[in-house]
Amino acid sequence: MSKRVAIIGAGCSGLSAIKCCVEEGLKPTCFEQSDGIGGLWRFTETVEEDRASIYKSVFTNTSKEMMCYSDFPMPEDFPVYLHHSKILEYLHLYAEHFNLLQYIQFQTKVCNVKQHQDFATTGKWNIEKENGGKRGVDVFDAVIVCNGHYNDPYLPSDCFPGLENFKGSHIHSRFYKTSDEYRGKTVVVVGTGNSAGDISVELSHIAKQVYLSTRHGSWVVSRISRGGFPIDMTMSRRYTMWIKNLLPRMLAAKINEKIMSSWFHHSNFGLEPKFRLKHPIVNDYLPSQILQGSIVVKPKITSFSDTSVIFEDGSVADVDEIIFATGYSTMYPFLDDDIIKLNNNDVSLYKYVFPIYLEKPTLAFLGLVQPLGPIMPTVELQARWATRVFSGAAQLPSVKKMENYCLKSKDIKNKWFGLGRTQVLQTHYIDYINDVSKEIGVHPNMIFIFLTDPRLAWQVFFGPCTPYQLRLNGPGKWSGARKAILTQWERTIKPTRTRVLHECPESWINIRSVLVIGSLLAAIWLLRARCNAGPSGHCPWTTNGASWTKIFSMARTNPM
Ligand code: NAP
Repeated sequence: MSKRVAIIGAGCSGLSAIKCCVEEGLKPTCFEQSDGIGGLWRFTETVEEDRASIYKSVFTNTSKEMMCYSDFPMPEDFPVYLHHSKILEYLHLYAEHFNLLQYIQFQTKVCNVKQHQDFATTGKWNIEKENGGKRGVDVFDAVIVCNGHYNDPYLPSDCFPGLENFKGSHIHSRFYKTSDEYRGKTVVVVGTGNSAGDISVELSHIAKQVYLSTRHGSWVVSRISRGGFPIDMTMSRRYTMWIKNLLPRMLAAKINEKIMSSWFHHSNFGLEPKFRLKHPIVNDYLPSQILQGSIVVKPKITSFSDTSVIFEDGSVADVDEIIFATGYSTMYPFLDDDIIKLNNNDVSLYKYVFPIYLEKPTLAFLGLVQPLGPIMPTVELQARWATRVFSGAAQLPSVKKMENYCLKSKDIKNKWFGLGRTQVLQTHYIDYINDVSKEIGVHPNMIFIFLTDPRLAWQVFFGPCTPYQLRLNGPGKWSGARKAILTQWERTIKPTRTRVLHECPESWINIRSVLVIGSLLAAIWLLRARCNAGPSGHCPWTTNGASWTKIFSMARTNPM
């Protein structure tokens, strides 16, 4: 009999979890407390309790080719960056295409998730849920938690002493919907996350003055990269990640810093981050609004009077309104604390998915990670892994190994991003998907692809790391993946080429790529020469005298 899996939440994680369960021969039931799919992408005019809330003007900050599910490209006429209503439309298309709605119980809130009395032997869970005032308990073989982590606004009173003195109004960004009520007012926006960036820019068009108060600063990048292409498609590439991992960290960090500050000098704009490896925020208008004086960047707030705020540098601003865009706390009110220990937003999960110390691996969390890249293909990959573990097709390593992994990755994270509550879930996107895809054998086999399909290999290694790459081989292989990769640029430029004067022939190979690959080959040749001349005569990174046929057959069995 198929194992029953409870999925909590029908947002972008929950939908992919349903699909993966079905594909893995499991029987999903998804509980969604609201009456529609989409999670945070389902905009409502008013804030609803226990649900994430977005403002009316939100557009994605990852491009459509990077952020789609791996076997379901977005319609080619969709814009490159999408309004939240378009994302919801895409999620509906996905749900309908894969027939997912039949598995969802709407208006059903999960109140409690407890281990079944036989948990130690069966790994089963009791799910207590409520629908229309009626409570009931149901038993499931496994649980996937997909309820998101942007429900609980973080606004610590000890960080803002004297706030009670302030007589103007103040809200958390969760409660911000539109700029209407801020016309002609002086507003302080606190924070430099994506919410703070978006809200301050939106307000700057109608408010009398906007102050942006930041304690640590932030890198700001534009959605648009060289040539007008989406920045994530130009930056998220396997070869750059490969080079980053080869270089000493300090050098890689320096290069990263150079790239981050290439758009404008952050120090001149008061935005230079204290922690220099911080994830950037994406905002196309913030620097120009600062240049126009509509936004003035300030250090952190130290105190409040009844009509003003006092900043760390001693300056004072009379203000009408304060918006705290200070982020969120992760919480799972339906789970016992000992199942998931939250420490200032940090969680001890193996690869951000599995609790380490459960006797049975029958509980998985999706989306509790912040990759420097798209979240949708990330949660989809997590769902593929979780459902394969539940079905028995994949196994978790021993507790000791998972502990060691967590310690090691914490150390790496600390070096790259720091362990502050805003950074604690951050990871490098490609490193992370590589890590998880290896768990289920869907990591693209680079050597094999280079030897059998150079055109595709070129795009996979030197082109944007689009989600389709995770469907080229292994379980869940999709026959459309190759075509989707080779046509990803066509879908990217299609929505903007609305006035075509001439067709420019596209070449899959260009001068810059030739130079990059030429330099790489030269570096490999130099290394080989050094190895051959070395005292042991043994080269540690290649097989001595291995023929190409040997490498080819190795490649088939050992993905890179
Ligand atoms: P966030 O990314 O967690 O940023 C919180 C900000 O508040 C940080 O700048 C942080 O400063 C600051 N902060 C926290 N505690 C503070 C304190 N005590 N005093 C002063 N400043 C404090 O939260 P968010 O911007 O709401 O974003 C939440 C998630 O939604 C993120 O993943 C974001 O990328 C996403 N998002 C996406 C979009 C979009 O796609 N367009 C728009 C909005 C949000 P430090 O950095 O100094 O810690």
